[in-house]
Amino acid sequence: MIKRGASKRMALILAAIGLYYYTALRFFGYVCLSEIVLGLPCPACGLTRAGWLFLRGEFWKSWNMNPFLGFAAIYFALAALARNKSRRLAKYRDIYLICIVFASFIVFAFRVHSSFGTEPLVLNPNSLLFRLLRIGKSVLDGNRTTASN
Ligand SMILES: [Zn+2]
Repeated sequence: MIKRGASKRMALILAAIGLYYYTALRFFGYVCLSEIVLGLPCPACGLTRAGWLFLRGEFWKSWNMNPFLGFAAIYFALAALARNKSRRLAKYRDIYLICIVFASFIVFAFRVHSSFGTEPLVLNPNSLLFRLLRIGKSVLDGNRTTASN
């Protein structure tokens, strides 16, 4: 049975995630913090889209979008099973998380090397960093034009 405080906390977490998704999509068109700030995809980029493709039965497209969907699903299943029950299972969950995070960075490096430029491994020209760089460039260009006159 779920305790009242735990379900309240879970509702608050889900509301915060929903608010973040809404705000990020509304203002930036992306939910990934790395894409929003730096314009660069991260190893988890494409997981949500991979999940939707998987649910629609497009397994190969789902795998190509992000191969770590299955590993993430196993982690969440372990986390749900280990919650407040078994310290041993919680230990395995943590070891598993460290392993898949490490593996995801290695696989991400291969994916960037082999298929950068295809979704989800694309640069976001509307990221905060690229916007700042454009502003900086226009300021510098403006100063150059003023200085040459
Ligand atoms: Zn990402």
